[in-house]
Amino acid sequence: MPYVDRYAPSPTSDLHLGNLRTALAGWLLARHAGGSWLMRVEDLDADRVRAAPGAERRNLTDLASLGLTWDGDVVRQSERLDLYRDAVASLPTYECFCTRREIAETSSAPHDGYRAYPGTCRTLTAAQREERRATRPPAIRVDSGGASYTVEDIHAGRVTGLVDDFVLVRGDGAFAYNLAVVVDDIDMGVTHITRGDDLLSSAPRQAWLTGKLGGTPATYAHIGLVVNGEGRRLAKRDGAVTLADLPHLSPADVLAQLSGSLGLGPCRTTEEALAAMPGDQRFFSGSVWADGLLR
Ligand code: GLU
Repeated sequence: MPYVDRYAPSPTSDLHLGNLRTALAGWLLARHAGGSWLMRVEDLDADRVRAAPGAERRNLTDLASLGLTWDGDVVRQSERLDLYRDAVASLPTYECFCTRREIAETSSAPHDGYRAYPGTCRTLTAAQREERRATRPPAIRVDSGGASYTVEDIHAGRVTGLVDDFVLVRGDGAFAYNLAVVVDDIDMGVTHITRGDDLLSSAPRQAWLTGKLGGTPATYAHIGLVVNGEGRRLAKRDGAVTLADLPHLSPADVLAQLSGSLGLGPCRTTEEALAAMPGDQRFFSGSVWADGLLR
């Protein structure tokens, strides 16, 4: 059985300890399985990438400094727009003119921070679409037919979620994350996906789309986030959370903290951490407090 995972940083900020911990977990799972670990830079949001000059280079340097080596060339989403265009053309879609506000008013309460789209624009007539196009550029949504889909996560088990008519192309013409991630995972032959557990609720939607585009959904490993004092996902405003902020810690020190937080003990090299992996690959994947990690 092939085992191919990928790490997919968005070069819109530096990697913080939570990102690095997830990267370490994915690297360990892949290497322990004798598999590959690919690198994909998710740089489709041109404005946010431009606002963080040099972030891609720092992301890759930080990963390499911890010994998290990837296979093959770095893949960049900004260089693969034709693939996304072809995928959209092969799917049942419709134009959506709703504003965020309109969606908030017509949909049910958000679930895990995500508001399922109620399908308002699915039934617009050609004349209505024509009229709306004059007021705002449409987003393109997939017509999911109200599916629900179950994914397999090595820690969370079977997770079922509703698949709404999610956005494939944004109103500004940019391909949406949920589309690009699926197209790329299929194209890159990804069989396993390790990432932060803030994305667990997106997995059913993405796995469903994988099937629609002729791929086989991956097995997931969603890793708990590193959280701040309020129990929220770590952010830049939380202070010293990137390697650049922690010059007093060597890469080996950071690796020891991260591997300790995964329940593997304070391993100072990736080889040591690999040797500490349990046979069934079920290491500790829960959330951890940044405070505890940096002590
Ligand atoms: N680029 C996404 C992020 O940085 C990760 C997407 C994924 O792993 O599916 O949060």
